[in-house]
Amino acid sequence: MSENAEDLNTPAPVTGPWRRTAAGAGLLGADGRVAPTIFTEMTALATSTGALNLGQGFPDDPGPHEVLDAAARPSPRAVISTRRCRNPSLRTAIAAHQARFYGLDIDPDTEIQVTMGATEAMAASLLALVEPGQEVVTIDPFYDAYAAVIALAGGVQVPAPLDLTHGADGHPNGFSLDVAALREAVSDNTRAIIVNTPHNPTGTMLGRADLEQILAVAKEQGAYVITDEVYEHLTFAGPHIPMATLPGAKGTVVSISSAGKTFSVTGWKIGWITAAPELITAIQAVKQFLTFAGGGPFQVGVAAGLGLGGEVFDAVRSSLQDRRDLLVSGLRSAGFDVIVPDAGYFTVADAAPLGFEDGAQLCREMPERIGVAAVPVSAFTSAGGPNAARMRSLVRFAHCKSADSIHQAVDRLQKLH
Ligand code: PMP
Ligand code: GLN
Repeated sequence: MSENAEDLNTPAPVTGPWRRTAAGAGLLGADGRVAPTIFTEMTALATSTGALNLGQGFPDDPGPHEVLDAAARPSPRAVISTRRCRNPSLRTAIAAHQARFYGLDIDPDTEIQVTMGATEAMAASLLALVEPGQEVVTIDPFYDAYAAVIALAGGVQVPAPLDLTHGADGHPNGFSLDVAALREAVSDNTRAIIVNTPHNPTGTMLGRADLEQILAVAKEQGAYVITDEVYEHLTFAGPHIPMATLPGAKGTVVSISSAGKTFSVTGWKIGWITAAPELITAIQAVKQFLTFAGGGPFQVGVAAGLGLGGEVFDAVRSSLQDRRDLLVSGLRSAGFDVIVPDAGYFTVADAAPLGFEDGAQLCREMPERIGVAAVPVSAFTSAGGPNAARMRSLVRFAHCKSADSIHQAVDRLQKLH
């Protein structure tokens, strides 16, 4: 094999399930080469061009000092306990958090599994529950990891599109779940529906009526609902509604969250699953062979964070909301149509009014041309599905960056005119 760097990504001759994993995420080329994820690609482009990175969703701010301090200086007792297989203090903190914010009564011993981030939680859940050939419905656009792991499990991903809604002026102004399309996506062979609310990339928060319908459809089919709620605290339009709070959810809903977004510690990878004991038992049977346990000091930090006063959660939310507002008005003045997000790290904008119909192409050009990186919404849509075409000109910008970065990015974006 040549030692040239450009040859490192050679068409891999190795066969195996990795192929369907990469293909599931749309990363396996016809020539056998594996492309990087859109986040890796755009961050590399931002780095090589020196562009401001409003692509990959990692925050600039350091997060609440109480969380960082607790992780940096865990008590000797906490360190010893985190060396043990299953650290009870984080599970106790998660149960208390679910009770305090959502009124949920969860047994920390039998109904919680701590994971290495929401990503591992989702992977373990899908690998534990989905048999080869079974279908998993995802709301489209969807976070890339779902497609990859559904494929690894041998499952079949079935998209249920979000609709792009338009105001009286004809401009896009929101996203809404097409419940009829969701019903159509579900079949006798559906094993699970993945629900991501608040949603990446659109910032949509599903309301109670939508969640009730999804739960009803799942129960009719005997399917599970696996929720990804990592943006649960970053909400600008009223509180998040966890699916697990709906009547009848228990035994059907597997709830996933993590600390990364709430406490601006996206590299810590501390997540958790809450579900009925029989589901936790099933998922734990897989999870314990991925990583038995990990991130000891981070677990201590997150346990401290989950117990912080409401004012800390409010401060995180309102600081993020200010930066969202800054980005929204900057994108508007640059000529984009902006779909104002109700939650999360990202703002989606339509580049069509600026004459850019292909968001992916724009994202590949922007770092060099104006010094700003973003990611196309098309990277989150099913190839060949309705949203691949309908959302082609949409671009996702991260507002989880410093106000200074956003100010500078907004200045540069004015040059797209
Ligand atoms: N789900 C969604 C919707 C996300 O945006 C992210 C962002 N990284 C993740 C899961 C991954 O979470 P974690 O870092 O806890 O694995
Ligand atoms: N969730 C983040 C995003 O959507 C990060 C993804 C990643 O780093 N793989 O940008």
